[in-house]
Amino acid sequence: MQIKFYGVRGSIASPGKETVRYGGNTSCVFVEADDGTLFIFDAGTGIRKLGEDLIAQELSKEINLLFSHYHWDHIQGFPFFLPAYKKNQVINLLTAHLKDVNAHAVLTQMTNPHFPVPGDKLEARVILLSIDNNKLEIGENKIYSRSLNHPGGGSAYRLETPRGSMAYVTDNELDPPKPPVTAYQEWVDFLKNVDCLIHDAMYLDEDLEKIHGWGHSLISQVLQLAVDAKIKKLILFHHDPARTDAQLDQIGKDSRKWMKHHYPACKVYIAKEGDIHTIIDL
Ligand SMILES: [Zn+2]
Ligand SMILES: [Zn+2]
Repeated sequence: MQIKFYGVRGSIASPGKETVRYGGNTSCVFVEADDGTLFIFDAGTGIRKLGEDLIAQELSKEINLLFSHYHWDHIQGFPFFLPAYKKNQVINLLTAHLKDVNAHAVLTQMTNPHFPVPGDKLEARVILLSIDNNKLEIGENKIYSRSLNHPGGGSAYRLETPRGSMAYVTDNELDPPKPPVTAYQEWVDFLKNVDCLIHDAMYLDEDLEKIHGWGHSLISQVLQLAVDAKIKKLILFHHDPARTDAQLDQIGKDSRKWMKHHYPACKVYIAKEGDIHTIIDL
């Protein structure tokens, strides 16, 4: 399985010289499983470049686009996703733990006065699907879902393939001020032994007072989760738009140092646009 990052920011795209190395596009992660099944997690602004790459590679296989939720930073790239304008292209828009009617938000954002091409006039065959009972099989791959602790709800995903596993958990508050939809121990169980965890790591401990209840996690909480769930590779994701490259370098350094002392089997990375992570039975 190969994982490629196309957008790593939260909230809003943040291009500029201070963010150019890690990238300024919002959430979009591309996963190609070993059996060739294509998965995309979220359609933030990063999906524009992914669409160009898929067209250039003439990859016209069915695309499975899984949404964590429908906040802007996770859907707003979809109108610029070229495969959606391609005849005979099938795109499954998948969600879990969200009201089915809200799935239309991905297409209804393509409406006057926001966008010139209506969402119901796309050339591709776009199919809205929801994952029932927390489980779905596509090819030789299994997808499991859990409810996010996030305003308005949402879904986390764990993808199991015969040769490795990954999980995509963004816009998730591990320790919210109100009773959580999914408790900490349930996250530990859901993510146990996953090869590669991509998790929301938007804030620092000193931000807590201001952001408690916003539906995002502290980096320190995510590091602890990786220890408790025995994660092999942790990728910190959904960076605050104001976080500079220099600050992310420092966060990476501090996080790796912490992990070395607490659970050296886990390797920590900062999600970076363009980075590819290959998962082969780690
Ligand atoms: Zn977000
Ligand atoms: Zn959100």
